[in-house]
Amino acid sequence: MTQQQPVTKSTKIVATLGPASSSEEVLTQLILEGLNVARINFSHGAHEVHGETIDTVRRIDGELGTYTAVLADLQGPKLRVGEIAGGEMDLVEGGTLTVKVGTGEGKDGVVYTDYEAFAADVKAGERVLLDDGKLALRVQETNGKNTVVCEVIHGGPLRPRKGLNLPETKVSLPCITPKDAEDLAFALEKEVDWIGLSFVRRASDILELQEEIKKAGKHARVVAKIEKPEAIEDLDAILEATDAVMVARGDLGVEIPMQEVPLLQKEIVRKCMAMGKPVIVATQMLESMIESATPTRAEVNDVANAVLDGADAVMLSGETSVGKYPINAVRAMRQVIENIEAKGEVQYPERPPLSPDDERFISDSVCYNACRLARRTNAAAIVTMTFSGYTAIQVSSQRPSAKIYMFTANRRVLSQMSLVWGVYAMPYTKMVSTDHTIADIKYILYKAGRVREGDFVIHLASMPIADAGMTNMLKLSRV
Ligand code: PGA
Ligand code: MN
Repeated sequence: MTQQQPVTKSTKIVATLGPASSSEEVLTQLILEGLNVARINFSHGAHEVHGETIDTVRRIDGELGTYTAVLADLQGPKLRVGEIAGGEMDLVEGGTLTVKVGTGEGKDGVVYTDYEAFAADVKAGERVLLDDGKLALRVQETNGKNTVVCEVIHGGPLRPRKGLNLPETKVSLPCITPKDAEDLAFALEKEVDWIGLSFVRRASDILELQEEIKKAGKHARVVAKIEKPEAIEDLDAILEATDAVMVARGDLGVEIPMQEVPLLQKEIVRKCMAMGKPVIVATQMLESMIESATPTRAEVNDVANAVLDGADAVMLSGETSVGKYPINAVRAMRQVIENIEAKGEVQYPERPPLSPDDERFISDSVCYNACRLARRTNAAAIVTMTFSGYTAIQVSSQRPSAKIYMFTANRRVLSQMSLVWGVYAMPYTKMVSTDHTIADIKYILYKAGRVREGDFVIHLASMPIADAGMTNMLKLSRV
């Protein structure tokens, strides 16, 4: 039997691993503090290092009996400027900056970008944002081949390899760049659970990635990072296609006016709950903890609000990858989550029933009523038996106050579900009879301290059990 997972909050924590957090000691502490998903950011670092980090996560899981999900985040068509002579160039408002295609070193009012189609894609009048939008340019003219002259709208110091965003331009780069294809092959080889796709623009980007994963014979699921205006326009189709979503507030707040991000966050989370798609709220949640052992009050509020919105997970980036206080950051996040979950109530959108002709109609209806029943009886646990994880996600998307325990014979799904709100997965391979299994599982939960004598428990299963079909049965009983 598995050891007890240390923390059972419902909202999950994603932390980006890096030099500050990939050692066995720190990583063990992070998992004990409540880390559920280890994010490997392929924008930085070598495969060899990432491979070791993934191995370390799996090794610690083996020791602790946890099932940490590994999320491999692909860089996507992220644009950057090149090197700069002297390490800095001062851009003066009203002056000009010439951006050339190539790999040279920038100096004397010229910077380079290795984005080949830059001069062909931009048009006069479009904005060019540098360094997370701290610096802004407007295109004056382009020769369509390799040289773009820009006026400096907001000046300041430009440092090497800073990001370049084009919110008004149709960027012609593919969503999966050659670098992404290599990173993807490596990540799949390492059996990661989730693949994050950056700068998604349309649903076909997701379908393309899912196709690549299938071709490789793997089962990783896809997280669509919402950080482009085009993605907002095609949001419904993207949500339909993807397995999960990330509200990538860093780039999103550069690509669209940042004051629009808070309401978009709420809208995306609400839609994801309605569609049963796990959703992560990401970036700058505890940003000041890169340098400081405690968060600001505003950051605490930001995490709390994401929890109240109903996000499946909240994410740390630089705080844990390069920050000075990675353990404090995860602990602070957990403490906020635990406090809000104990006192606040997530408002989940009640969704209309599926059509009776839908093949999921029976299982969806049973899941819906399991959550109503859990509320009515103040049940401690909803138990699902599932091979794909579908039932667990369906139940989770209604954000019941009962914990969701998923028993499965599918090793892969155990760690995948670590991203999903309220779901704790445990391995289970004995499938004798429904009666026996239900009694056995109740005993396992009791022994693990997950339920106590007198608690109500709701079981979801499929009868006959040997068919391993879709959920069609609900049982309420007392421990
Ligand atoms: P990134 O994505 O950290 O890979 O840029 C998150 C974001 O843009 O918010
Ligand atoms: Mn981003």
